Amino acid sequence: MSDPSRPKNVVVLGSTGSIGESSLKVARALPDRMRLVGLAANRSADALAAQMTEFGIRQGCLFDPTGLDRVRSALPGDVTLHSGEEGLVELATLPEADLVLVAIVGVAGLRPALAAIEAGKDIAVASKEILVMAGETVMEAARRKGVKVLPVDSEHNAIFQCLEGHSPDEVSRLILTASGGPFRALPAAELPQVTVEQALKHPTWEMGRKITIDSATLFNKGLEMIEARWLFDIGMDRVDVVVHPQSIVHSMVEFIDGSVLAQLSTTDMCFPIQYAVTWPERVANTLPPLDFAKLARLDFEVPRWDDFPALRLAKEAGTVGGTLPAVLNAANEVAVSAFLERHLSFPGIWHTVAETMSRHRPLSHPTLDEIVAADEWARETAAQLTTRT
Ligand code: NDP
Repeated sequence: MSDPSRPKNVVVLGSTGSIGESSLKVARALPDRMRLVGLAANRSADALAAQMTEFGIRQGCLFDPTGLDRVRSALPGDVTLHSGEEGLVELATLPEADLVLVAIVGVAGLRPALAAIEAGKDIAVASKEILVMAGETVMEAARRKGVKVLPVDSEHNAIFQCLEGHSPDEVSRLILTASGGPFRALPAAELPQVTVEQALKHPTWEMGRKITIDSATLFNKGLEMIEARWLFDIGMDRVDVVVHPQSIVHSMVEFIDGSVLAQLSTTDMCFPIQYAVTWPERVANTLPPLDFAKLARLDFEVPRWDDFPALRLAKEAGTVGGTLPAVLNAANEVAVSAFLERHLSFPGIWHTVAETMSRHRPLSHPTLDEIVAADEWARETAAQLTTRT
């Protein structure tokens, strides 16, 4: 447990990405609450070096070692630099760290997140992949070690806020809101012609490329349904989705007495990141408040379950559990890359995921090695499928 009278010492894994940059904004705005002690990136050597210089950070990691010399040459000689998965684990377990914010895209954050938990650190999770793949393992480890898993994803952060002070048996449904993405109103017959440029234009959020495509297919919401199931220990049948194009209501909880609590704010990831860092306290900031006069309206729609099969596939994966969510996640990553490289159509993304899932024999209560093996198998299978498409 960190000392509330001093800033929380925070490690950010994935500091050069969209969430990473927002985390650094929060650290700049709240220096008496958040002190960065370690940063990690994949290949962005110059950006990592600049961030470490700005915050005077002594411990860094560049996953891909080819750029390490570049980072080293830009920093004082006594700064410690790591690389690879061991390097990420080293950072995630720094003795001085109170909180490890995992904002790496993909699966590379999984082992470092587990290492942080084993070292008794609280973790703030943006990387939904780690809860999708190994939610049972991560949450069980956190319970055993008595550490907190704080959600950064805006929807889960909203639910986390709405649930405070309530026990799980008071909850009737978790309601995730979805913007609906850029193709919310596009006729199903036009989905096969969707281009990469169109899919990368998210109507309400500025995000990394992979998650932006996931928002367009609705796989992002599907992954979030599975993430919610584990984070809040609730059955998939009680995790629901509603389309809300303005992305102002970040998610809601319906309680057994019929009351619904919602969390609202402007669309800026600094809100959930700040709350994950300052939790359980609320701290004043200079982020733009909601202007209800300008908002005018908030709309809600039923998702197009038949035209966007990602939701149903995710519901199936979350209900079956075991290794199936890892397979869905890995197949989706491969299919999204193929789409971005322009050798898979937009609907090809969900066809690839569905076909890969149908070829998999799920294992229940898998070990971490079994999860990783299922992930690798799904990547190979989806790669074969996408090269043939
Ligand atoms: P970006 O693609 O913008 O950034 C990814 C970050 O991860 C970069 O810093 C990248 O480094 C780093 N990275 C990738 N692989 C490794 C690795 N092996 N080792 C160390 N660092 C690595 O992604 P986002 O910030 O958009 O998303 C990050 C995660 O947060 C994703 O899981 C996403 O689903 C989730 N999320 C994102 C939201 C958003 O608004 N962006 C909202 C909610 C959740 P480099 O720069 O060197 O490539």
